[in-house]
Parts: sequence; C-alpha cells; structure tokens
Amino acid sequence: MARRLSESITALEHQSRDLEVEVERRTAEVQRAAAFAALLNAPLGRHDAALVPDDPRAIDSPLARLLDDVLGELKGGTGARAVAVYLEPVPAEGAHNPPPGLVLERCLGAAPQLFAEPPALVALERGLPFVEGDRTVAPMLLGVEVIGCLAFVDMPLRPDLLRFVGQAALQLGVAVGNVRAYAAADELARALKERNVALAHQRDQLREMNRLKSEFLANVSHELRTPLNAIIGYCELISDGIYGDVTNEQKEALAGIDDSGKGLLALINEILDLAKVESGKMVVYLQDIDLHDVARAVVNEAAALAKDRPYKVRLLQGAPGLRVRTDAAKVKQILTNLVSNAVKFTRAGSVDVTLSALPEGGFSVSVRDTGIGIKPQDLGIIFEEFRQVDGSYTRQFGGTGLGLAIAKRFAHMLGGQITVESTVGVGSLFTLKLPPSAPEPAPSVRTPTGPRPIIRGDARLDAPTPPPRPPQPPREVKPRS
Ligand code: ADP
Repeated sequence: MARRLSESITALEHQSRDLEVEVERRTAEVQRAAAFAALLNAPLGRHDAALVPDDPRAIDSPLARLLDDVLGELKGGTGARAVAVYLEPVPAEGAHNPPPGLVLERCLGAAPQLFAEPPALVALERGLPFVEGDRTVAPMLLGVEVIGCLAFVDMPLRPDLLRFVGQAALQLGVAVGNVRAYAAADELARALKERNVALAHQRDQLREMNRLKSEFLANVSHELRTPLNAIIGYCELISDGIYGDVTNEQKEALAGIDDSGKGLLALINEILDLAKVESGKMVVYLQDIDLHDVARAVVNEAAALAKDRPYKVRLLQGAPGLRVRTDAAKVKQILTNLVSNAVKFTRAGSVDVTLSALPEGGFSVSVRDTGIGIKPQDLGIIFEEFRQVDGSYTRQFGGTGLGLAIAKRFAHMLGGQITVESTVGVGSLFTLKLPPSAPEPAPSVRTPTGPRPIIRGDARLDAPTPPPRPPQPPREVKPRS
C-alpha cells in the first residue's frame, strides 16, 4: 500500500510538472500573439512619426518599415533561422497588370537568393500553413484573396508555432491591406492639396486679370467720354447757329451726329458703370427719398422715348409718401433701364409702372408691358452681361445687353432684387424690390452730407435711337476755339 501510494505521488508530481510546462508554453504563445497584434495595431502613422530626421529608414515606405518590424518580431518569436514576406505586386497607376504570382518583398536572416522561389499560389489558396522542404509557409489573405505569404526557414515544427504563424499571416494580410489603403488615401490627399494650391493660384491670377480688365475698361471709357461730350457739345452749338447759318441739310446731318454720339455715350456709360461695379469702385450715396418722385421722373423722361408709340408710359397707384433710404440715382437708372426695355419691346398696348408697399416690409416698383415677351428658357440669361435673347447681327431691336446686368447689380448693392415674369406674345413684368433702408456703405465709401442731385439716367431716354438715315458725305467739322 505504501509502495502504491509512493507511485501515485510520483505520477502526480509528473503531471503537475507537465501542467506547469503546458501553462508556461501557453503563456508564451499568448504573449507572442499579443506582442504581434500590438505591433500590427499600432497607428498607421506610427511608422512615420517614430522616425527621427536622420533615421536611415526615413526613405523607406511605411509598408517597408512595417514589414521590417514584423519580420524581426516573427524571427525572434518562432526561433526560425530566416524569415521572409512575399506580396502580390500592386500595379503602378496607369501601368499594365503584372502577371499573377508573388514577389519577395522583404527578408531577414538570409540573403534574398535563399527566397528566390516564391511558393505556388495553388498551395496558398487553401489558406493554411504548410511545410515545403526546409521552410514553413503561411498564406496571407485579404477576404478570400491571397495577397502574399510568410516563409520561415528552419522553424521548429511545433503545433503551437504552426498555429501562431498561421494566425500571424492572416493578421498581417489585413494590416498590409490597411497600410496600402492608407498610402493610397495619403497620395490622394497630397494630390488634392497640390491641385488646391494650383487652383488657388489660378483663382488669384484670374482675379487680378479681372481687376486689370475692369480698370482698363474704366480708364478707356472715361477717356472716350471726354472727347465724345465735346463732339456732342460742338454739334449742338453749330446746330444752334452759334458759328454761322446752318442749312436744313446741314441740320439734318448734325442731328445724325448728335443722335449717334448720344447713343455711343450711353453705351460707354453702361460699360463704365459695369467696370466700376466689378472693380468695387461704384459709390453708393444713401439719402431719404420718396420713391414716387424717382418713378415720376423716369415716367416723364420716358415720354420722349415713347413718342412714336400709340400709348403713353403711365405711373399707376403712385401715391407719394413711400419713403426709402437708398441711392436715388441708382434706383432711377434701374427703373430707366426697365422702362426703356419695356417701350423698346412693346409696339402697341401699354407700359405701366406701379408702386406699392410690400406686406413683408420694403417697397416694390413694377414695370408691366404688353410687348413681345420672353421665352421661359431665356429668363435666366437676360440678366447676364452682354446677353440678349436675340444676339444676332440681324436682330430687330438695338441694345447692348448690359442694361439688365447693371440693373441687377445696382439692385443688389441697394439690398434689393429684380424679378421677372413673362409670357411670349403677351408681355413681361419686371419688379424691383427694395428694403426700407439700403445697407450702409463701407466706411471707406463716401457718403454725402447734403442731398445729391439725381444724375441723368440712361442716355437712351434722353436720346432715342434715331431712324436710319441715308449715308451723308463726310464733312470736315472745325470747331473754333
Ligand atoms: P439690351 O440693351 O439688349 O436691351 P438688356 O440687358 O436691357 O440689354 O436686356 C437683355 C435682353 O433681355 C434684351 O436684349 C431682350 O432680349 C430681353 N428683354 C429685356 N427686357 C425685355 C422686355 N421688357 N420684353 C422683352 N424682352 C426683354
């Protein structure tokens, strides 16, 4: 009995030792796996951030540095003489797909020649570690696709090690996929950043070119206006007989010069206005005005424009007392442009201007005509510069395509807007809406202390386009000083 007892104790002692060994082995296995997982789970940027400026590895890609770290960990963790990683090559952008198969990416513990022959893809597709010759191979999968494999030379063929390398290869497959996706996103972000810089540069250049264009237009328009005013002035003086008697035929020719000069002046004024708005040099003069006064002035001036029409431009519901703080000259020019368009495009019927207070605050001035109307698809373009519904040289109606563009910009400057409704063949309704008070101009902008006289509106009203005249022989006009 004593002998049996002693045998049992010895057996128990053996079992206990085996158990301790197994626990130690398992602990090492778990630690190995944990260390490896920690290495792979490190933030992707770690491989860049960890580098000091003179680190020789700085020229390597994040993937190369990850693989170097991994191979070091695996060689130490498995006791293999040498380890290597093979990867499926990623085609460069725009390059042809490489032939299927793996290429040696990194190795440790032996020269690359030892790993010259990559394992066959068919063997890897099973997804499990296997032994061929003196090396153990573990496939790396991303989903079901083989993206590479790990190879261990002279690794002890213990089941726990086989389990570990199988698991490690699968984890490395996911990590390589992540690093590649990260690198692609990084590359995209870099390309986008470069593109943004280039676009910002282009935008600045375009802004500068636009500013120069506006400045040039403003200067040229100004230079053109001065001699043109002189021509029109001399023309009037000659026509009035200041320089001697003028025959009827000469008067007719002078009227032609006067009309054409005024038409040209109107065009130059429009270009100058647009250039001023674009270059930010348009000044806003705010004063308290009665909207009725401005509308009345526009309608009165329109009488000349509609003199050959079978209707008169009317001001409806125009009770005085609609007080607005705004720029009277700009409101006048907006309305003048709208009314002159209405008359131009309305041969018969009516052109009516209506003033009203808006329920939501502010005021509106509508110009309704019974003219040719505008097609729905053209309503969007008529407010653009130089755009006309019929822009051909053979078009029936004159004009530059600037009137509405300027009107819209002026309305915005005054905190208002212009809307349009139209039916082809029935007529159009343009409405200017204004707030009770226009936004105060920036401090750098001059605000007059006293009232400013309303400037002359669109010269098209002052000088309706004359009917075509027979060509006159050129005359030499010598103004006396
Ligand atoms: P334009 O100097 O040619 O009149 P605008 O900018 O004032 O330039 O107008 C642009 C275009 O919008 C006009 O050429 C015309 O085709 C269209 N349009 C403007 N007002 C009217 C209107 N009341 N009736 C019909 N068409 C209009």
